[in-house]
Amino acid sequence: MKIYDLIVIGGGPAGIFSAIYAAKKNMSVAIIEKKNNIGKKILVAGSGKCNVTHQGEINYFLNRYGDHGKFLKNALYNYKPEDLIDFIESKGLKMQALENGKIFPETMRSTDVLNLLIKELKKLKVDIFTNNSVISSEKKSETFKIETDKEMFSGKNLLISTGGKSYPATGSEGDGYKLAQMFGHSIEAPRPALTTVYVNDYPYADLSGVSFQKVKIELYRENKKVKEHCGDVLFTHSNLSGPGIIDFSRYFLKGDTLFINFTGKELEDISEEIIEASKTNGKQSIKRFFSRYNIPERFLKKLFKMHDIDENVKLGELSKADRVLLTKKLSKHEFLISRLGNFDVAMATAGGVSLKEVNQKTMESKLVKKLYFAGELLDIDGDTGGFNIQAACSTGVLAAKSVKV
Ligand SMILES: Cc1cc2nc3c(=O)[nH]c(=O)nc-3n(C[C@H](O)[C@H](O)[C@H](O)COP(=O)(O)OP(=O)(O)OC[C@H]3O[C@@H](n4cnc5c(N)ncnc54)[C@H](O)[C@@H]3O)c2cc1C
Repeated sequence: MKIYDLIVIGGGPAGIFSAIYAAKKNMSVAIIEKKNNIGKKILVAGSGKCNVTHQGEINYFLNRYGDHGKFLKNALYNYKPEDLIDFIESKGLKMQALENGKIFPETMRSTDVLNLLIKELKKLKVDIFTNNSVISSEKKSETFKIETDKEMFSGKNLLISTGGKSYPATGSEGDGYKLAQMFGHSIEAPRPALTTVYVNDYPYADLSGVSFQKVKIELYRENKKVKEHCGDVLFTHSNLSGPGIIDFSRYFLKGDTLFINFTGKELEDISEEIIEASKTNGKQSIKRFFSRYNIPERFLKKLFKMHDIDENVKLGELSKADRVLLTKKLSKHEFLISRLGNFDVAMATAGGVSLKEVNQKTMESKLVKKLYFAGELLDIDGDTGGFNIQAACSTGVLAAKSVKV
């Protein structure tokens, strides 16, 4: 049986980039992939357009991975967003940055990204074994033995890059956690990240599509503020979504409370403004007055209707109870989280192989020599915007550069 210099379990961006950079060092490399093709998640990334990475300095990147960004410092400095862009462009696919900083191929097609990666793997003579699901692996006298549902493989080094648990149809079903545990590694409980949020008695189904830019979202647990975040929020037909909610969702638990400020002004300030205006311009309708807060008209109308307040009522005639209620709904709107979108809809997985047991300078296991981890299998999840593919590629390349035979 051939003994490869490096066996890569899982052909997502982490595994693919690791295989490419190890093969460039003249190593013999095999990718073992359970699906009928590698890179299924690349194909769905960015709604099929593939938001490969993001503009910005590494320090900006490090803040986009919740509390775990620090672990990625070496990986990101070793393989920067510019390196990823240069690599793809050097293979003939031009990249472009959109206004929001997200970087996509100019063709806006994920298939173009995946095809060039497959071409490169073939050029570098990486063996790809598809339809092979790894069920166990162990290290026996300096060699890793890898058993799939079909055959056995051997390698001097082993990289596990099987992804997380989100979008299981793409192949990431959490198998890697069991494989890591076989080598004694601990797993931080996996949970859906980058997902939508369901709240109790959601009243805005008919406002589906209404969005709010750069609003403040505060997270409370047991009456204590845990964190706050700023981002865009979208009402859908059944839940809260938009990048502000999705990026922040890694911290949410069922039963938590969100307070959203839709106006950009503090509750007390709005309250004062209403009182002041009712003295100086009391004949103005409340509809006219509230339009100054730059909130979607449909939302405002809905609030008036839901709470039985006539939109034409004059400011000077607005009752104290209605003033307090409207101020709260606009600047400290409470939502009680009933559940989060599950792994079928989450774009990433929080939790995974514990970072305490992985060397961040090499991606090598601290427990087993020559065993490496990369990508979303690790306890890392980034914001939307290209941060996850970049993390997968950077950790994969760092592992490849660290592997020795
Ligand atoms: C809908 C959606 C859209 C996204 N869009 C973006 C985006 O635009 N930009 C961005 O940065 N991120 C995006 N992400 C996240 C990003 O795609 C992932 O973070 C990234 O693909 C993780 O790479 P990975 O290589 O670690 O794992 P994966 O891409 O999940 O790859 C893991 C591979 O391992 C294989 N595998 C699993 N178990 C086994 C086994 N037992 N044996 C053999 N093979 C196995 C799987 O089949 C899979 O091919 C998106 C995710 C989703 C779900």
